[in-house]
Amino acid sequence: MSLKQDFYELLGVSKTTSQEEIKKAYRKLAIKYHPDKNPGNKEAEEKFKDISHAYEVLSDTQKRSLYDQVGHEAFTSRGTNGHGGRGGFEYHDPYDIFSQFFGNAGSGGGSIFEEFFSGGSGRRASSGERDGADLRFDIEIDFEEAAYGADRKIKIPRLETCDSCSGSGCEHGTGKSTCSKCRGTGHISMSQGFFSIRQACPSCHGTGQIIQNPCRKCGSEGRIRVEKILKIHIPPGVDTGSRLRVSGEGESGVRGGQSGDLYVVVHVKQHEIFHRDGLDIICELPIDFATAALGGIVEVPTITGKTKLKIPEGTQNGSVLRLKGKGMPSLRGGQRGDQHIKIFVEVPTNLTREQKDLLTQFKTIHDTSKNHPLMESFFTKAKRFFTGGEEA
Ligand SMILES: [Zn+2]
Ligand SMILES: [Zn+2]
Repeated sequence: MSLKQDFYELLGVSKTTSQEEIKKAYRKLAIKYHPDKNPGNKEAEEKFKDISHAYEVLSDTQKRSLYDQVGHEAFTSRGTNGHGGRGGFEYHDPYDIFSQFFGNAGSGGGSIFEEFFSGGSGRRASSGERDGADLRFDIEIDFEEAAYGADRKIKIPRLETCDSCSGSGCEHGTGKSTCSKCRGTGHISMSQGFFSIRQACPSCHGTGQIIQNPCRKCGSEGRIRVEKILKIHIPPGVDTGSRLRVSGEGESGVRGGQSGDLYVVVHVKQHEIFHRDGLDIICELPIDFATAALGGIVEVPTITGKTKLKIPEGTQNGSVLRLKGKGMPSLRGGQRGDQHIKIFVEVPTNLTREQKDLLTQFKTIHDTSKNHPLMESFFTKAKRFFTGGEEA
């Protein structure tokens, strides 16, 4: 930083100007050249810093008289390039001076401060603001709800901005005073040899302000614990472990901080007949052995309703038949999965006399080599196994 220009010239005032006039001049120029009002303008930023330094010196009667006597050289900044060993003057952060100036202006000047910062600038108007935490909510849904999607009302306990004090933490009709310990900056500097360390002010917890009468509802916290009822939409295709983000429905921020997000974590209940494998649905279907042998049409359940399934003649136990497109919808859109029907041939039990006679009759006329190729092949191998054993 150069600080070539005379401080009086910088502020556009004369050497005999009153303290009040110096304040006015600073106020006007600081707002005009503040980097938030001049985004990307390096010149304005330099000017803003120079004005702050000029004001810092001239607003202090002791420093001002020293400046008048010794002159500009005495206040050349201690360099930031590492050559700052020899004396020099250590200036405060121009932004601190700025916030302190406007923060200290009290009820009269406060509005200008707010007005200035409400223009969507990135710089935080005051410290002490915090973003709200993200929240997690676990929800259990039915298999069908996962397939079709669902609208659910959920009740989440969370911290919300106190409606009594609108988050200020002050009892209605009362305000805040500037913290005397940090003079409203929210932090204090501690010198340790050559270095100075900045810390959040312990007196005001970094807010720069002291609440005179804490809000009776929230006890100055600015937030209260509530049970919020929210309507959420669960999209079709979710599975256990799916995480839905509900933007801005987490905890409220503190003193202007942003709200967190809500994450709804889905758990899908086990279904009695359907199981899921990715986008596919698996269903085990028991059929009688006559249908398995003769073939036929059976009715099978799918998540979109009943459908008819053709059982081919000679269907074996454990065979899997496919119903295309009867699986789960994809969360990302696109093709649905399939439904796989796993055949389970149920051997009949509790047979009547007549049924037993019919089966006995079948047994006498069936041809193992033709009707039961697996049996045939197995016993051929078994015979070979015993014969081989004799030879060894
Ligand atoms: Zn403080
Ligand atoms: Zn409150």
